[in-house]
Amino acid sequence: MRQATVSINQDALQYNLNRVKQLAPKSKIVSMVKADAYGHGLENSLSALAQTDAFGVACLSEALEIRQLGFEQLVTLIEGVFSEDEMQIAIDQRFECMVHHQQQVEWLIQHKVAYQAKKLKVWIKLNSGMNRLGFKADEIIDVINNLKAEGFECVLAMHFANADSDDHPLNEQQKQLFLQVREACMPILCSCCNSAAILKWPELHFDYVRPGVMLYGASPFADRSVHELDLKPVMTFSAEVIAINHIQAGEKVGYGSLVTAEKEMDIAVVSIGYGDGYPRAYIAQNSVVVNQKNLNLFGRVSMDMLTIDATGHALKIGDSVELWGEQRLVDDVAKTSGTIGYELLCRLSNRPTRKIKA
Ligand SMILES: *Cc1c(COP(=O)(O)O)cnc(C)c1O
Repeated sequence: MRQATVSINQDALQYNLNRVKQLAPKSKIVSMVKADAYGHGLENSLSALAQTDAFGVACLSEALEIRQLGFEQLVTLIEGVFSEDEMQIAIDQRFECMVHHQQQVEWLIQHKVAYQAKKLKVWIKLNSGMNRLGFKADEIIDVINNLKAEGFECVLAMHFANADSDDHPLNEQQKQLFLQVREACMPILCSCCNSAAILKWPELHFDYVRPGVMLYGASPFADRSVHELDLKPVMTFSAEVIAINHIQAGEKVGYGSLVTAEKEMDIAVVSIGYGDGYPRAYIAQNSVVVNQKNLNLFGRVSMDMLTIDATGHALKIGDSVELWGEQRLVDDVAKTSGTIGYELLCRLSNRPTRKIKA
């Protein structure tokens, strides 16, 4: 059988959740499990993260999946509902809603009796400079006062545009704006930290933190590895050597014949390709791990296979190959491929076999 495997280490997920608890001991944790738990598979991630206070997802269908799998924790819809008819479902299922525009506020007020009867809080999003979702600072105070007057318990929320960068000037502006709005709306619950902010700004943890990528053992920072952050990679993406070709100087390998051997070489063919989610571009510095050694790609990645320079390594058919995992960090593959770990994790296809390590 073709070996292409995504294996998920539930202990590592739990370990990383505990890291968040240590870092933010006074805050409730909304574990972000959007996009199929960042590509890790929802069900096994939910069970490993069962000690969280709540789950966060992007939309109603993702939240309903959590219920269908039998998990009863509170769920936060971080973009709120997309139409009024979703509101009743959200209430019935105990999903807390974000509001980021006036129409959502009106839907909420129309359903206020049912919403409040379930003791759900409403999250109100401040646009503090990212200019994606949220009310501007000069509108949000009225929105919050109005919701409070209607009897809602409110959580002021915002999201940093550059939390991964130490010295971006917008960080300080976003912080100051958030603190000003918070001051003007006291008393109010607050939430503004994703993984990067949790790791960097303990003074901003407030009532709820919203870790995502760090739970899965990938780094939110370009210049700090998960090892330095004391997080454990959760996913191992692996395959197998399925052929070894001995080629002569001058011979070429793969689509586009992009690479030419300068000497005699052993080329190992690995049972993984862009059809599984490995990035297609040929990047000479990209490597995989076989028998604890880093071996570089040689030639463009195909849909089902890729080729590596195995010269001098005496590989055998059936040797296991780690594309990313504990030995080769997904963040390093991402960096050499011009993207971020987040993208590689959540764009895996459903072709690789999923294995759960409990
Ligand atoms: C996805 C998301 C998070 C988690 O971000 P990470 O960088 O993965 O920790 C937090 N808050 C909001 C609003 C999000 O959309």
